[in-house]
Amino acid sequence: MSLEIVKYGTPVLRKKGAPIEKITPEIEHLVTEMFATMYAAHGVGLAAQQIGKALQLCVIDVSEVDDRPSTLELNGEPSDVNAYMPLTLINPKIKPYGKEVSGPEGCLSFPEIYGDITRQEHVEVTALNVKGQEFSFRCGGLLARAVQHEVDHLNGILFIDRMQREDKGKLREELEDLQAITKAELK
Ligand code: ZN
Repeated sequence: MSLEIVKYGTPVLRKKGAPIEKITPEIEHLVTEMFATMYAAHGVGLAAQQIGKALQLCVIDVSEVDDRPSTLELNGEPSDVNAYMPLTLINPKIKPYGKEVSGPEGCLSFPEIYGDITRQEHVEVTALNVKGQEFSFRCGGLLARAVQHEVDHLNGILFIDRMQREDKGKLREELEDLQAITKAELK
């Protein structure tokens, strides 16, 4: 079942996610529903905040994107990104590294709004999977961008917070309109 994705202006998007202490059947079910929701919306990532839950949980799948490459390293060896997808990250800890690169980003909570965001090119990730097992990997390219974007959500940080002031200024009206519509719907 596809869940409703909350939009900019919904307070939960600003909440830091609580760590998941135990992977219950409810969490497993939530993960399944988050994947269904992400695929239905044609996104490459979705955080729990975006379906209204402030938890340290996000899902990612970059395998459908072929015009923006990703890299993956497992135990220091280059690996096949698509074979590693999809990813469920529970209580993720990340260490971005490498040079800063600017690239376009959107967000399912900001329909039709895009902007260039500067992030580090690579990221080292440690998280639990849906079976509660810890796993680690290093990645680059689109996957590293997606991981950083989603982990920001888990901390209540949105991509517009990382936009250049000038770019954000150009989107000001659209952002205010979206926020106003969202708040009106919440009443
Ligand atoms: Zn997002």
